[in-house]
Amino acid sequence: MGETVIPLADLRYAAAVPAIPSLAIAATGLLADGLGRPLRDLRISVTDRCNFRCSYCMPKEIFDRDYVFLPQTSLLSFEEIARTARLFVAHGVQKIRLTGGEPLLRKGLESLIAMLAELRTPEGLPLDITLTTNGSVLARKANSLQRAGLQRVTVSLDGLDDAVFRRMNDVDFPVADVLAGIAAADAAGLGPIKVNMVVKRGTNEQEIVPMARYFREQFGGRIVLRFIEYMDVGASNGWRMDEVLPSAEVLRLLQAEWPLVPLQASTAGETAERWRYADGGGEIGLISSVTQAFCQDCNRARLSTEGKLFLCLFATRGHDLRTLLRNGTSDADISSALAMVWAGRDDRYSELRAAQPNDASTGAKRVEMHYIGG
Ligand code: SAM
Ligand code: SF4
Ligand code: SF4
Repeated sequence: MGETVIPLADLRYAAAVPAIPSLAIAATGLLADGLGRPLRDLRISVTDRCNFRCSYCMPKEIFDRDYVFLPQTSLLSFEEIARTARLFVAHGVQKIRLTGGEPLLRKGLESLIAMLAELRTPEGLPLDITLTTNGSVLARKANSLQRAGLQRVTVSLDGLDDAVFRRMNDVDFPVADVLAGIAAADAAGLGPIKVNMVVKRGTNEQEIVPMARYFREQFGGRIVLRFIEYMDVGASNGWRMDEVLPSAEVLRLLQAEWPLVPLQASTAGETAERWRYADGGGEIGLISSVTQAFCQDCNRARLSTEGKLFLCLFATRGHDLRTLLRNGTSDADISSALAMVWAGRDDRYSELRAAQPNDASTGAKRVEMHYIGG
């Protein structure tokens, strides 16, 4: 008789403890990776749990009652997150995005935001602090998040039709509550708000034009709606290329309704291609992670809920910072270790996938989206 083996949740992704270089590496804010890309953007996952079961991220069949989420002791504390963030900021990070899982499920998140709001770049500037949420509890939290120091939010919403939305979140969550969350964030001044819509061919493409119309008309151009190509992240969502609706097709659908004019990227490393309505109705974005790789400017690092650093959304291995945070390693040593890890980075998964569509994955277990965030 075989015994049931319960996997140790925090060993689910391979991660080595980074080596401490024998010579200290000074934090100059100018760190660059092996391909010359700076470190600017840190995405921090504060929980691997979520109250939704979007099929493209946490399909119900896998993330069911038996799924073992990380135990509380595995999670980085807010103090540990803030300490790590401070070291990253000294190396050039200017923007922090809190994500998950559903970040607003982490208790007391406002106190983490307040700690991060205290940080300053080497030039003495405050950070750009934002958060990606499914919006389910945003109506209740918008004001306290803003008071804590959050500057803006990105809300994920895949359709306006209630039946389509309930099917996509797969927990029967009503669209009206998310719309109320967006309105509350707008009223609280958490803007410019972005709304992210993952487009799956055959599932919600009919929602593209109604979504664009709604955000044009209701918010007077204040909200930027961004269409995201369905990505092959993780190994759980049963991704198939024929379910990807290329951004070029999204653009054609929109242009049939409203003339659009291309805009320049506002910052280097920006993931979205920006367009504006010619009639002044605001702006939209297209995130073409599948059909148009943007690795060349990728300046993002990702810190998992349990303190593993990932250098690419499609990474199969992380770097275990938590061990260093908990074994008495000094800030200076962790900082040098971080610098060495980033300097050795050569990840460019999407570019490789575009070059060899069937061969980019090594078959090793890729990190899941709910664990690492977007
Ligand atoms: N729960 C929050 C939310 O949904 O906004 C934050 C975490 S979620 C993992 C971050 C973003 O990743 C969301 O905008 C979500 O739509 C997107 N996402 C998840 N799986 C995806 C996939 N397979 N392809 C494209 N985007 C995906
Ligand atoms: Fe939850 Fe966000 Fe993933 Fe949907 S996309 S299952 S809301 S973490
Ligand atoms: Fe960055 Fe990896 Fe995405 Fe390329 S595939 S843009 S390196 S996260």
